[in-house]
Amino acid sequence: MPWLAESTVQQVKQYNDIVGIIGNYVDLKRRGRNYIGLCPFHSERTPSFTVSPDKGIFHCFGCHESGDLISFITKIDNLTFIEAIEKIAEQAGIKIEYDQSKSFESSQDDALKESVRHILYQIRLQFTQLLDTSPSAMNYLTRRGLSDETIKSFHLGYAAPAFNLLKWSEEQRFTTEQLKKTGLFFQTEQGALRSRFKNRIVFPIIDEMNRTIGFGGRVFELDQQGAKYVNSEESIVFNKRQTLYGISLAKSEIKKQKYTILVEGYMDVLICHQYGFKNVLAIMGTALTTEQAQKIKRLSSSIILCMDSDSAGQTAIERSCELLLQTQYQVKVMQLEAKDPAEFLMSQGRDAFQEHITNAVSIIDFMFDRACQKWSPKIIENIPKIIECIIPYLRAETERIIQTHYVQKVATVLNIEPELIMAKILNLKYNVRRGFSSSKNSQKSKRQKAEEFLIVFSATDLALRKKIFSTISPDQLTDPLLSKIASKLIESESVNAVLIEGIKDASTKRHLTEIILKADALNLISPSENELEDYISLVISDQKEKRISEIKDQLKTLEKQGDEEGMTQLLQELHGLKIK
Ligand SMILES: [Zn+2]
Repeated sequence: MPWLAESTVQQVKQYNDIVGIIGNYVDLKRRGRNYIGLCPFHSERTPSFTVSPDKGIFHCFGCHESGDLISFITKIDNLTFIEAIEKIAEQAGIKIEYDQSKSFESSQDDALKESVRHILYQIRLQFTQLLDTSPSAMNYLTRRGLSDETIKSFHLGYAAPAFNLLKWSEEQRFTTEQLKKTGLFFQTEQGALRSRFKNRIVFPIIDEMNRTIGFGGRVFELDQQGAKYVNSEESIVFNKRQTLYGISLAKSEIKKQKYTILVEGYMDVLICHQYGFKNVLAIMGTALTTEQAQKIKRLSSSIILCMDSDSAGQTAIERSCELLLQTQYQVKVMQLEAKDPAEFLMSQGRDAFQEHITNAVSIIDFMFDRACQKWSPKIIENIPKIIECIIPYLRAETERIIQTHYVQKVATVLNIEPELIMAKILNLKYNVRRGFSSSKNSQKSKRQKAEEFLIVFSATDLALRKKIFSTISPDQLTDPLLSKIASKLIESESVNAVLIEGIKDASTKRHLTEIILKADALNLISPSENELEDYISLVISDQKEKRISEIKDQLKTLEKQGDEEGMTQLLQELHGLKIK
C-alpha cells in the first residue's frame, strides 16, 4: 500500500473550497453567510443541510450529521481516510505525493477495512475457481441463459460444498477477528464460525470503486435447503442502503445514456447487460433508499423503475416513487408482461424491451393507477384520498403543459372539476368573497355558504371551533345536515382526518369531507379575524331578522286575540333583539 505524504494530507486539510466539492453532491444555495441544500444523509423536502465556508464545516439540522470536508467525503463515498484525501486532492488539483519513509499512518478502523476488502477479494478468486471446476453449477448458469462472458465479467463464483471456507481462510493466516468482520460467517451457539455460503452460486457485490464488499448467494439444486437467496451480513465495508448491485460495470454506460434502469434482482442486472442494456442497477432490498438515490444522482438524473410484476415489486416501485419525489429526478416506470426483466428479455427479446423503455409511463400515471386500484374512484369517499395521493406528483411536474394534461386526465376519471385540482396544486389564494360568488354554487344563499365555512373552520382547527361555538349554537344553523355536524363537532376534540374517520354516518362523513376539500383547494381553510366575524355575524343577524319578523307576525295575531300579557312579553323580546 502506498503511503501518502504528510504534506499532501496537510494541503487537503487546508483546502478551503468546501462548497465547491460538496456542491458536486448536493445542490447548494446561498443563504446569508452559509449555503443550504437537501441533506444527502437523510430524506427531506425542506433543506436543513448547511455548509459554512467560513468555518469549513457542514451540519444537518435534521439528522445532525456534521463534520469537515474530509469526513463528508469519507461518509458519502464510504471511503477510508486516505482514499478520501486522495479523492479531494484529485478534485482540488492538489498533487498527490507518496512518501515511503515518512508515512502517514491509517487509523485502526481504516486498516481493518483495507484488510477486510483484501480478504473478500481473495475469497472471490477462490469462488470463481470453484465455479470453473464445477460442471453442475456451471450448467445451471448456462441453463438460466447466462453466457460465459457475463459469468466472467460479473465474477460469478461457486461456494462448493466440499470447500471449507474457514479452513482455507485460516491457511491464508487471516485472523478470526478479521474473518468475523467480513460478514460471510455466522457464529454458532458454541462460538464456532460457520460460512453463510454453502453449495450456492455466489454473486460478488462490487462497489463503484471496484472493491469487493460482499456476496449474494443463491441455491441452485432442486430441493436444496435454505432460503433462495442469502447475502453477506452488513459489515464495516458493506452497507446495503448504500449499495447498488452492478454499479462498477454500469456507471460509465449510465453517464453515457444519461439514465439508469433500476431493477430488483442480480439475475435481472446480468441478463440486461447480456442483452446490451448496460445502464442497469439493482437495489439491495425491498425499495430504493436515499443513499442509493444520491449515488445514482451522481451518474444520471433520470431513472426508469423496472421492478418485478408481483405485488411486492409494485409496492417497491411505489415506495421508490415516494422517495424520488423528494428529489429532482425524472422518473418513469416500465411495466413488463413477465415475472421480471430477466424473464421478459429471454422470452421477448431485446427489441421488445427497448420498446418498453420508450413507452415507460410517467410517475404520475403510475401513482394515479395505483391509487385508483387501492381506492375505487366510484366510491365518493375515496376521491379525497386519491387526490391527496396524486397531488404531490402533479405539483412536482414543472412543465405546465404536461401538468395541465394530467390534471385534466385525473379530473375526468374522478369526475370533478379540473380547477379544483389545479387550485389545490397551486395553493391558490382567492379572495374569500370573490371565491364565494364566482364559485359554481353561486345560487346558494350567502347564509348557506357562511354556515359551510364555519363548519369547515371548526372541523380543521380546534381553537376556531371553540371560538365559533361560544357565539353560536348548532340549532342556529339552518341547514339540518350542517346543524347535525355542528352538534358532533362540539362533542369532539379531534380535527381533520381523525374527526372525519370518527363519523359513522356515511352521508354526513361525505358531506363534511367534500366541503373541507373544496375549501382546502381554494386555500380558504384559515380565515382572517374579520372574515370569521363576518360569517358569524351573518348567521346571527340572519337569525335575528328571522325572529324579528316572526315576532311581528305573532304580535298581529295576539292583538286580534287581545292577549295583552303575551304581547308585552314579545315586545320585550323584540326590544332586546333590536338593541343588541
Ligand atoms: Zn440530514
